[in-house]
Amino acid sequence: MSGPILRVAVPSPLYRTFDYLPPDAQDPSALKPGVRVRVPFGRRQVIGFLLETADEPEIAPDALKKAYAVLDAEPVLSADILALMDWARRYYHHPAGEVFAAALPVLLRQGEAATATVKPPRWRLTAAGQAALEGALLRRAPAQRTLLEQLARHPDGVGTESLREVVRDSAALLRLLREKGWVEALAPEIRDSETAPTVAGGSLPILNDAQATAVATVAADLDHFGVFLLEGVTGSGKTEVYLRLIEAVLARGRQALVLAPEIGLTPQLLDRFQERLPGPLAVLHSGLNDRERLNAWLLARDGIARVVVGTRSAVFAPLRAPGLIIVDEEHDTSFKQQEGFRYHARDLAVIRGQGLGVPVVLGSATPALESRHNAQRGRYRLLNLPERVGGGSEPPIDILDLRRQPLTEGLSRPLLERIGAHLARDEQVLLFLNRRGYAPVLFCHECGWLSQCRHCDARMTLHLRHHRLICHHCGDQRPVDEACPLCESADLRPLGQGTERLENVLRREFPDAAITRIDRDSTRRRGSLETLLAGIRAGGRRILIGTQMLAKGHHFPDVTLVGIVDADQGLYGIDFRASERMAQLILQVAGRAGRADKPGAVIIQTHQPDHPLLRVLVTQGYPAFVEAALSERQAALLPPFACQALLRAEAATADQATAFLQLGLALAEPIAEGVELLGPAPAPMERRAGRYRAQLLLQAPQRQTLHRFLDLWTPRLWAQRTDRRVRWSLDVDPMELY
Ligand code: ADP
Ligand code: ZN
Ligand code: ZN
Repeated sequence: MSGPILRVAVPSPLYRTFDYLPPDAQDPSALKPGVRVRVPFGRRQVIGFLLETADEPEIAPDALKKAYAVLDAEPVLSADILALMDWARRYYHHPAGEVFAAALPVLLRQGEAATATVKPPRWRLTAAGQAALEGALLRRAPAQRTLLEQLARHPDGVGTESLREVVRDSAALLRLLREKGWVEALAPEIRDSETAPTVAGGSLPILNDAQATAVATVAADLDHFGVFLLEGVTGSGKTEVYLRLIEAVLARGRQALVLAPEIGLTPQLLDRFQERLPGPLAVLHSGLNDRERLNAWLLARDGIARVVVGTRSAVFAPLRAPGLIIVDEEHDTSFKQQEGFRYHARDLAVIRGQGLGVPVVLGSATPALESRHNAQRGRYRLLNLPERVGGGSEPPIDILDLRRQPLTEGLSRPLLERIGAHLARDEQVLLFLNRRGYAPVLFCHECGWLSQCRHCDARMTLHLRHHRLICHHCGDQRPVDEACPLCESADLRPLGQGTERLENVLRREFPDAAITRIDRDSTRRRGSLETLLAGIRAGGRRILIGTQMLAKGHHFPDVTLVGIVDADQGLYGIDFRASERMAQLILQVAGRAGRADKPGAVIIQTHQPDHPLLRVLVTQGYPAFVEAALSERQAALLPPFACQALLRAEAATADQATAFLQLGLALAEPIAEGVELLGPAPAPMERRAGRYRAQLLLQAPQRQTLHRFLDLWTPRLWAQRTDRRVRWSLDVDPMELY
């Protein structure tokens, strides 16, 4: 055995890397990590990623197979993304192949060439490059010198193609020169970035003091890593702050990456970015087809798109000249991937910013407790935008005690009266209920039978419009029973409220008001959400009913009353994060309403009017809520005052799932010094889609303690000959404990 071997991340759920011999006629020492390699794997051919070349194979040399081909001359993933993924696979203890798969567009994973279908950029010498050329610096770098001289002869720029004829390896040289700031790319489609950007029909708004301070603070430190937590109520001008910072970064020839929740990528936000920022945007979200995704990815990688906007997985977007990372609505749970490679995009954004040495701005009206805690510890710098732009005050929030109130399908008399009053003034009313369908359960008035799902520990939701019972957990459905399956009584009644039922009762109560319902059912068809939103924006008396789809991202200036129909669900959820989520949701919904000349009001219906955290939130606001909630967490030693990982298992029987976790526990006990092992215990919803679920919770007060343990434990877990009928996963920093 002579010469190095290739260590490859293969797309498989196995927790290990694989070694191969280089293909014939391939000089392995010339290969850079991050190039794609086509290799034999079992009886298949797959495309993997070169992690490194190594001298000692991890298996017997004569068992090594030969790779078929190396697909790229240059790595498809830049060094910074490779470093990020390496960090991520160690931190989340996840198979490298799946981590890599998360970072790359499908077409590249299938072997498509990683070359742009868009025109490559032209290049120009910068003032610094001119100075370098005149100085003595380049005496010993003839190739660089030749390139710079060529550029100096063409002040209008030179195409990438013709530079390739001037020196060998021009792409790598150009990258190097660009990093030194000696050359810059002129993307073909970029509008003239010298002219100050303008808003349609006018000049830029004058920043208020808080905005100006926020912009100045971050802008003063664009050359270093630092995390800024921008906390500002909805409408306080956070997006304006982002735009100014992005402009500052673009002016230095760098790119900005903006992460937003799926719902945040609404046409409004993108229009605003498009209007204000030069050049094409690269937009990465779940609605793209594979070709569109690859194109956006290449626009970002080649630096043609100077601003990249995307959801969770865009944290892996390649950037030619990264200068700033922004995470909007940083508290949003959609940043956490809940299956497969379970990463948190906000946390990875911070790690990436650190690796790149660029600032990271986390913005929210309701920051996550974790982020607030980091700000209190001085790890993040807190920037506050305390007021709405234009002085409109935040709406007052009233708690409406439902105890002993007569209810009309879940709506109290006082709320109905307030709705009537606002509609009478031709204003809009928004009602929030986080349950779609007609009623969450159907029950028999004779014998108490409940519409239980056959496959889950859950009730089937009644959808009256389609006349079906649907399980929201496994998707199983069936026609609504005509009679009770147990006692044959025909007296079956819907129990509780869903958005469909709310719509019905409101049509009855307010026959002359227009009603728009926004939930997953009413927006299933492509384009229907846009149509519904347009109807709302047209103004006029109207009731908006919606689930959390309506709570985020949109601004409804004509809404002057927001009603939270049922806050109880959130207050006593099983998860310790339930009250945090509820508080965030209440303020997010409240933030949809009102503007300077039409102040809004918020009413929360609850049977728990004295819930201490709810009281603090309503009377003293989010910062006070955070204080109270954090001290509860601290007293209970829960995150962010502890670090968790959750081992989940599911199988056809509860015993199989538990047996696997028992094995995990036995492996853990000898090495779990300082780590609490809680379980195995059945998951809160034990049976789902016909499978039994159980979990083992691992917790330690210090992150290092937990991770030192995981470093030892995870490989042992993978090395076990485990029951193949059990599916299991490890979730580091779980956001949901079920
Ligand atoms: P947020 O992102 O915090 O919800 P936005 O940045 O969207 O707030 O600002 C809300 C509205 O106020 C937008 O219409 C925006 O154009 C406008 N705006 C923001 N900052 C200013 C300012 N300094 N002066 C005037 N209007 C502003
Ligand atoms: Zn019955
Ligand atoms: Zn089900």
